Amino acid sequence: MNVNLYDVLTSVGKTEILDVSLPEHNEVFYGEEITLSGKEAFSLNITCVKKDIVNITCEPVIVAMRTCSRCLTEVESCYPLSIERTVNVSTNKVYIDNSSETDDISYIEDCNLDVDRLILDELFTILPTSVLCKEDCKGICKVCGTNLNTSSCNCDQTVPDPRMAVFSDIFNQFKEV
Ligand SMILES: [Zn+2]
Ligand SMILES: [Zn+2]
Repeated sequence: MNVNLYDVLTSVGKTEILDVSLPEHNEVFYGEEITLSGKEAFSLNITCVKKDIVNITCEPVIVAMRTCSRCLTEVESCYPLSIERTVNVSTNKVYIDNSSETDDISYIEDCNLDVDRLILDELFTILPTSVLCKEDCKGICKVCGTNLNTSSCNCDQTVPDPRMAVFSDIFNQFKEV
């Protein structure tokens, strides 16, 4: 969702409160496709604190559908966020004080606030790079693909991992020298 900031910037002290939501959509995070959505609508507060400077706050709760990194089943996680940004709309930088230069921001362009991007900017700083369906997830059988949390198989689990074979090749080369 885009919010035009022209209006709130017309006078210092002006505040706008909007009801916004994050529609369900997919994002790629560290190679994993995640389905994200806002748990419910939330308030977005925008205040003009100085000429060209706005303070933006909101507290959305984001629901992420992810996949367990061991067994690939779906895992639903909830992330309550508390977002607060003070930005200089004329330079598109985070505002600290008049003298400080900070990083460019991606969620404001030509006086338009991209609310989805603002949320992602915060979410991606706290999101764990991977999740497990449970602490002791047994994963899937490397041989037959059975989910070992729900059933078992008779495969020989000592079959070497192909990645480990590379190391044993290197080891054997050293032995030959
Ligand atoms: Zn799992
Ligand atoms: Zn198996």
